[in-house]
Amino acid sequence: MGKRELQESVIELKGIGEKTGKLFNKIGVNTLGDLLYYFPRGYDLFEEPRRACDLKENIICACKLTIIGSVTRRHVRNLSIVAFEAADETGRVKMTFFNAPYLVNSIKSGSTYIFRGVVRRKGNFFSMDHPKMYKVEEYAPLIGSLQPRYPLTKGLSNNTVMKAVDKAFISAGGLEEFMPYEILERLHLIGYLEALRKIHFPKNADELENARRRLAYNEFLVFVLKLRLLKQNSEEIKNNYPMIEVADTTRLLEQLPYRLTGAQLRAWEDIKRDLESDHVMNRLIQGDVGSGKTVLALLSLITAAANGYQGALMAPTEVLAAQHFESFKSLIKKYDIKCLKVALLTGALSAKDKKEVQRQISEGEVNCIIGTNALIQDKVIYKNLALVITDEQHRFGVRQRGTFAGKGEGTHVLAMSATPIPRTLAIILYGDLSISIVDELPGGRKPIKNCVVGTGYRPTAYKFIADQVASGSQVYVICPMIEEGELDGVENVVSYTQMLRATLPESVNIEMLHGKMKPAQKDAIMEAFARKDIDVLVSTTVIEVGINVPNATVMMIENSERFGLSQLHQLRGRVGRGEKQSYCIFINSSDDEDAAKRLDIMNRSNDGFVIAEVDLKQRGPGDLFGVRQSGELCFKVGDIYHDSDLVRESAMDADRILSTDPDLLLPQHNVLKELVSTKSANFVDFTTL
Ligand code: ADP
Ligand code: MG
Repeated sequence: MGKRELQESVIELKGIGEKTGKLFNKIGVNTLGDLLYYFPRGYDLFEEPRRACDLKENIICACKLTIIGSVTRRHVRNLSIVAFEAADETGRVKMTFFNAPYLVNSIKSGSTYIFRGVVRRKGNFFSMDHPKMYKVEEYAPLIGSLQPRYPLTKGLSNNTVMKAVDKAFISAGGLEEFMPYEILERLHLIGYLEALRKIHFPKNADELENARRRLAYNEFLVFVLKLRLLKQNSEEIKNNYPMIEVADTTRLLEQLPYRLTGAQLRAWEDIKRDLESDHVMNRLIQGDVGSGKTVLALLSLITAAANGYQGALMAPTEVLAAQHFESFKSLIKKYDIKCLKVALLTGALSAKDKKEVQRQISEGEVNCIIGTNALIQDKVIYKNLALVITDEQHRFGVRQRGTFAGKGEGTHVLAMSATPIPRTLAIILYGDLSISIVDELPGGRKPIKNCVVGTGYRPTAYKFIADQVASGSQVYVICPMIEEGELDGVENVVSYTQMLRATLPESVNIEMLHGKMKPAQKDAIMEAFARKDIDVLVSTTVIEVGINVPNATVMMIENSERFGLSQLHQLRGRVGRGEKQSYCIFINSSDDEDAAKRLDIMNRSNDGFVIAEVDLKQRGPGDLFGVRQSGELCFKVGDIYHDSDLVRESAMDADRILSTDPDLLLPQHNVLKELVSTKSANFVDFTTL
């Protein structure tokens, strides 16, 4: 097989020297094998040429136009600029080329081309800078085909990557098929080499989909096999920290101003049963935003503490960790929870404070440690860590979870996640964990009222916000950027805050929050907001995960069109957390019909499941990959929603394979065994990390 060749360095390829080789190394491509696995980020479609009146801003369009008037050439400093206009019966487009003086001679007024490039609008005009020009007969055979778009680095062009990949395939000639034939046939999957080739160079959308499915299946099968083998090893880990139910939790549940929902109660029973059982807990709590997961963490931490152990809660952001810390402190005071001694450990602490907290942890002076990934640094030594909880698990890489658990011996693990995955899939994909699903929102909540509107609606929105503030509620406004000048036409927190201060009545207290602020400053702002000292908080997405201020009833999101639907759902989840009616205003700043259509689902549903599914269906071939690349369950090409059938099949196939060959020792399972034993980012391994 071509395995040895695939280990060869990319500079072995003709046309790639040391310099280009270094650029490839920079993007993580060292060998020919790496190159074959350097998948496109998306594809550009060679579309049917449009009419000028159908052009759309900011996307790549192809348009059949005839050059009109004269071709001009001028110089601005060192730059030579060639410009002309081209038109059809529906409109005109300005074309500009930089440093291409030769064009003046080759381009003739009256000739017709297909121009393909990014469309911009300058005033009343559409324009294209440096469009590719095709003769009409040259473009015709390309229509419908896809061109790969690779993630690049400065100095490395898409074309260079394309050529290199193409050449690498020559060495891959003998790449071996390793998937059992029976599986390929049953699922109509194409061959391995063919799939690799077509993921780079699909002739059309169908070919791309076939390639993607085959490679997705590889990922799922290997993933599930890993889980199965892992589970065999870890199922029998003894409970080193057995616990009993304690009076403090029962008392807290009686005193809280609300009763747990049925779903919360079931999850709490699951947790208690685990902690008392003979085996260590490995549990995932899955529940949509606002379903009330935090109280389950609190109850578990109290149980650990009252049993004489330490417990830790890790959050993905400092802002959220600090909030948990503050809210736990106030609950401890309010309900007199004497057994719980909390500490906060984040990167934001001064070196001195950090040392002090670390001392308290190692000497066992504190037993409930809340923090960010600062909790898992080597320097932190726990006295008797029995329970680790990760909040917003979907925001962490899996490795982090593993390392965290590795801080203690046979530590109980509770992961809390808001990823909306159907139960049947969750059981497969979190095969190593037991799962509790919190599928009920606390009663008495009024569904959030939504509206998706254009920028013209802002004055009405501001008036509404002022009224809500006057009635005692609080408001979030989200802008994508921090400061001015980052991107045209995109709102930023700093300017927006100033503008709002000038627009809203003086009595409204408006503050801002963003990632460039000092941690102490961020904490101060969040605390002030929680205390109601701030009425309107203008923020970036730093508040996206976990933040809980039930008195906030309005969420206004500027440039909604720039966010993913699932992200919008998380942001919206910051309101609707109390009994008051809440509202979410999505401002759509683009005049693109597709954006409007996409956002409309936010109007129609408050359900994370529904939104995740629609999110997926609305994606085009241009953005197949990379949408869900953060957090865990990030497969390179597989998408657990879109390919849910394959996920299910892979689970059954994994069981079939392991039932005949439990340790993958048969020769036909050689490659599978190799794949299963390589560590990959989406591998959950509590036992060895
Ligand atoms: P999430 O699941 O998104 O982490 P939280 O745990 O932050 O949700 O809970 C959201 C809000 O709901 C909090 O203000 C919390 O106090 C409240 N809450 C939790 N459980 C209940 C319940 N059973 N009834 C009423 N309110 C609840
Ligand atoms: Mg939460």
